[in-house]
Amino acid sequence: MKAVLKKIFLSVCWRLGLFHVSRYLMKDKLQILCYHGFETYDETSFRPKLFIKKATFNKRLELISKYRFPVLTLDDALYKLRNNKLPRNAIVITIDDGFYNVLGIAADILNAHKYPVTLYLTTYYVQKNSPIFRLVVQYMFWKTKKREVSFGGCAWNKNENMDVRIDNDKERERIIWDCIDYGENECSEPERMRICQLLGSLLGVNYQQIRDSQILSLLTLDEAKLLDRKGINIQLHTHRHYFSVDDEAKAKKEIVDNRKVLDEIVDYPTNHFCYPSGIWNKDQWPWLEQMSVYSATTCLPGLNNSECPAFGLKRFLDGEYINEMEFMAELFGFMELARALRKKTKDFIIKWTPDFRQ
Ligand SMILES: [Zn+2]
Repeated sequence: MKAVLKKIFLSVCWRLGLFHVSRYLMKDKLQILCYHGFETYDETSFRPKLFIKKATFNKRLELISKYRFPVLTLDDALYKLRNNKLPRNAIVITIDDGFYNVLGIAADILNAHKYPVTLYLTTYYVQKNSPIFRLVVQYMFWKTKKREVSFGGCAWNKNENMDVRIDNDKERERIIWDCIDYGENECSEPERMRICQLLGSLLGVNYQQIRDSQILSLLTLDEAKLLDRKGINIQLHTHRHYFSVDDEAKAKKEIVDNRKVLDEIVDYPTNHFCYPSGIWNKDQWPWLEQMSVYSATTCLPGLNNSECPAFGLKRFLDGEYINEMEFMAELFGFMELARALRKKTKDFIIKWTPDFRQ
């Protein structure tokens, strides 16, 4: 209901021409768009925030082109942002993680529009010939048609009760995370693959098909090199998709290991970074500086002005869960205007309501 009302409200604002007003008001700010995976089978039904359909992505780029939003490289945009030289309503397109389908789907669509893109590549799974363990486990539990499964004899099942009701949200989430924690913390990659095979047979989901279709796999080293040759800029996203908030040595090692693999792929310096899972704090900023990183993008929504900290760049997380009108509202800066108005109203209420001031 809330989503329907929002869509109606945005459609009315669009018809009234308010999006064009916000576009003018936000003309000096930089919009950074963020994408992850691109669907080949049913990934958007599984994770609509993480994946987007080919047709939807193509439509997004058509809208950017139709309304003449200039798309810049990340390097160029950040230089111009700092020096107040940005063209009006400039956009940067970024893709996180490096799913296989960046090559199979996104690269050709971006090339057809001649739009530059920065790919933040996490490299652990680039070196392995297997899909992302965590996602495979979650996908198989989403995909299964079974309502109750016995996990007797499974090392990861910490519950005394071996029978788990898959249609019970609490029970299902518990067994999923027991399995993921066990696999990620106590197993080697071949052991994790064996867990996936066993899980597949218990849940009645074909693990081999998930592997072969590469729907939950990252690019291989050779595929990443192919993207580099297609002109896609590849940058840092940690090796193991983890950036410690309290252990400096661990955090820096993630950049060293990530950069080591990227150096095999590209022949330019990798100085731009994206926080994995959008988790970050300001204590990490000196570490990034010491590792010769120039910029870092977050998952905080919003547009960037010349005063935005280089290690706290905001982005709009697009995916199949965003409808076209919502995308247009972000593209034209209307949502940024709405966020600013909401903040001003909240500040006003806090200032003038005694109860809020305490
Ligand atoms: Zn990521």
